[in-house]
Amino acid sequence: MYNYIQHYINGQWVDSTGNEKIDVINPATEEKIGEISSGTKEDLDKAVKAARAAFPAFSQTTKEERAALLDRIADEYEKRKNKFIEIIIAELGSPVTFTTNVQYQMGLNHFRTAAKLVRDFEFTEKRENSLVQKDAIGVAGLITPWNFPTNQVSTKLASAFAAGSTVVLKPSEETPFAAMLLTEAMEAAGVPEGVFNLVTGTGDTIGNGISSHPDIDFVSFTGSGKVGTKIMENAAPDIKKVALELGGKSPIIVLDDTDIDYAAKKAISNIAGNTGQVCTAGTRAIVPESIHDDFIEAIKRHLSEFPIGDPKDESTFTGPQVSEKQWNTVQDYIQTGIDSDATLVAGGTGKPEGLETGYYSKLTVFTDVKPEDKIAQEEIFGPVLSVITYKDLDEAIDIANGTIYGLAGYVIGNNPDTLTHVAKSLRSGRITVNDGQSDFTAPFGGYKQSGIGREWGDYGIEEFLEVKTITGLPS
Ligand code: NAD
Repeated sequence: MYNYIQHYINGQWVDSTGNEKIDVINPATEEKIGEISSGTKEDLDKAVKAARAAFPAFSQTTKEERAALLDRIADEYEKRKNKFIEIIIAELGSPVTFTTNVQYQMGLNHFRTAAKLVRDFEFTEKRENSLVQKDAIGVAGLITPWNFPTNQVSTKLASAFAAGSTVVLKPSEETPFAAMLLTEAMEAAGVPEGVFNLVTGTGDTIGNGISSHPDIDFVSFTGSGKVGTKIMENAAPDIKKVALELGGKSPIIVLDDTDIDYAAKKAISNIAGNTGQVCTAGTRAIVPESIHDDFIEAIKRHLSEFPIGDPKDESTFTGPQVSEKQWNTVQDYIQTGIDSDATLVAGGTGKPEGLETGYYSKLTVFTDVKPEDKIAQEEIFGPVLSVITYKDLDEAIDIANGTIYGLAGYVIGNNPDTLTHVAKSLRSGRITVNDGQSDFTAPFGGYKQSGIGREWGDYGIEEFLEVKTITGLPS
């Protein structure tokens, strides 16, 4: 059992002013692994007050001092590697290999990258007859989801600290313990009192409290579009700046010159990785009619290379959904696909054989899906792939761009000109060609309803800054 029932405010672990607790469940065992405090408005006010008091001094630190702080946080993060991995497996059910190579590593990369970038960041620029100065934005409220418990928290913290802003964090109530461990790392790294504050609790009380708080200057949110809308509404009366990292329904465009086995494996790994609970997951395979049948045969051949099971087992590729609620949502979408004119190629409703305990879904693939079908338009956030065919590239690009989302896109093929043309034609914030890997110095974020603003690297730092132009200064 994890014992983390306190908030972290002004450099201290403190009791909540309320008595309510929220259970945290291991989705692979369905057992309770601990609880957190359901924070109150009073707890949040204290945290905001501490962040406000710490802001003047922290915003005046030098960029070298802040870079050194980020490196110290990264050092302390690394010291806790095994504990991070253990916690993320327990609270999210993310398989050990993925947790080690992706979940843990991404959280670390953001601190290291921000430390490096901020040393060269120009906080003052000379223009024709003016000086442009970039100032820390103030107190930032950070609200994060459950699917990448350290990555999302780390990218926001790294950018905020690089910029010189102070923060109040509300991690997801479903996966709060990784954020608690990160708090211990920050404490050990010597983050000054009040610069970082953490209040646990519900979206209703603490989430709404952050987005409507008069003394918070900026809200950086990652999560669903529904909550993103609520945050904008709450932030509107005070004209509070918001950055939103929301959902996606990303396309995988398969070109006709591709290696079909390679393309099929890429498509499966997109829905199987982190159990499909990835905002950038490619969930619509858009495939030329000419190779469709071979592609489906290749999918069937390779599915068993992505085993579902105990997340602690190194051979497991896919774990459970994070919660019973999420499992039910995924099941409803699979049933919707079955009830449509689409053809079920693999998977279906119910739990995989032998995995009755735990929120496990089957890897599910539909073909003959129409671009406008519900399962091809809405984010499922589970291991479900929709295969859609196209006649020519223009049609493929239209299908790819034909949702309310624009977070990511994938292009698989060989011809460099075609790959470039398709990548440049997609209305999405992040395009991966074949084996392209994440670049932590490059921006991350979405077009259209996938969000507002960018995270990662220097674009991420910019979000936590205000920009001032000064003219007429004596030279
Ligand atoms: P969610 O929107 O339900 O919750 C996210 C966070 O918001 C949680 O901490 C929750 O407690 C809080 N919250 C809930 N109601 C709130 C309110 N009224 N005001 C303020 N905060 C509130 O999302 P989730 O289910 O935790 O995560 C899944 C969603 O996140 C998916 O849609 C996914 O695509 C998206 N996501 C996006 C990215 C990205 O970078 N674009 C990354 C990961 C996840």
